[in-house]
Amino acid sequence: MKVKLLDLQGQYRTMRDEIRAVLDEVCDNQDFILGPRVERFEKHLAEYCGTKHAIGVSSGTDALLCTLMALDIKAGDEVICPPFTFFATAGCIVRAGAKPVFVDIDPRTFNIDPGGIGKAITKNTKAIMPVHLFGQCADMDPINALACQYGLPVIEDAAQAIGAKYNGKRACNLGFAGCLSFYPTKNLGAFGDAGAICTNDDDFAVKCRKMRVHGSGHTYYHDFVGGMFRLSALQAAVLEIKLRHLEGWHEARRKNAALYAELLAGSKVTIPYIQPENWSVYNQYCVLVPNRDQVKAKLAEKGVGAAIYYPLSLHMQTCFANLGCKEGDFPASEEACKHILALPIYPELREEEIRYAAASLLEAVA
Ligand SMILES: *Cc1c(COP(=O)(O)O)cnc(C)c1O
Repeated sequence: MKVKLLDLQGQYRTMRDEIRAVLDEVCDNQDFILGPRVERFEKHLAEYCGTKHAIGVSSGTDALLCTLMALDIKAGDEVICPPFTFFATAGCIVRAGAKPVFVDIDPRTFNIDPGGIGKAITKNTKAIMPVHLFGQCADMDPINALACQYGLPVIEDAAQAIGAKYNGKRACNLGFAGCLSFYPTKNLGAFGDAGAICTNDDDFAVKCRKMRVHGSGHTYYHDFVGGMFRLSALQAAVLEIKLRHLEGWHEARRKNAALYAELLAGSKVTIPYIQPENWSVYNQYCVLVPNRDQVKAKLAEKGVGAAIYYPLSLHMQTCFANLGCKEGDFPASEEACKHILALPIYPELREEEIRYAAASLLEAVA
């Protein structure tokens, strides 16, 4: 049997006609950038996340950069984030001119450990950027308590966690602003790059809308220097349709995760730990295994796709050498890099495929 890590074709087949029809409409209109389709999607996205505003942008990376720029984060500023995340989290902080200050993760959830944040706050700290990794929200109550105490905005990197809930509230509605990615591998995937910023703050929403069009509120008149962060109408049209199916896909992923948990119980495989406050959308199903690289190779022999998110902690990346971090500085993040392995979890997986993937994994770790 062959079980791919992710197969987007099955999902597309179920909505092919519907999607092709709206793409045709956009082509007939020749109205490609922003416009009514983007506005409609923004409205439905904000309703889904429970936020007052959603601003469609060109990617998850641009959502983060736009948010940092709209918060006036610049040279000399510090932003706190975890070192165990996709590169964009810290990359955008540096692109805004600021310094990422890493705080190690909780080894059980892989999310930033709130207990480490207080010590990392200095007079230069301008924001806290937790990441809701693999579809599970960071521990937001203690993070928000600290943010409130120090008067700092919390930017949620919710790229992997659209729809995830913490104490019943959705990701992006747990901080000052939430950043989403619609990269095709995310739970809500576009047909290319796309992203969004969600917020309950009216002024900030206005600022982000200007920021995504070069700081312009009125064509060819610029209030400040922004970026080119616009969302394409073709992507909004696809996302609008897919958003209607999102909750069902989350449920299918959760069901797949529950089956893995049952099949892998009592083995050498450490299955994901979900905090009681959390309702995970399992963008990835990441387990910890001994001899990870050999296990991954054995799975490949069996035809089971697996991937390593992430092989190198951000504090060890060549491009961040100037931050002066060294091996051993963030032990939980480094340990996760050595043992983590993502298994197929996408909604359309068949039960027999999960059973085969789990059995192959148990054989590989034996
Ligand atoms: C995917 C991702 C991003 C970036 O999103 P893009 O749409 O690929 O630019 C940022 N942060 C995290 C945690 C991600 O997983």
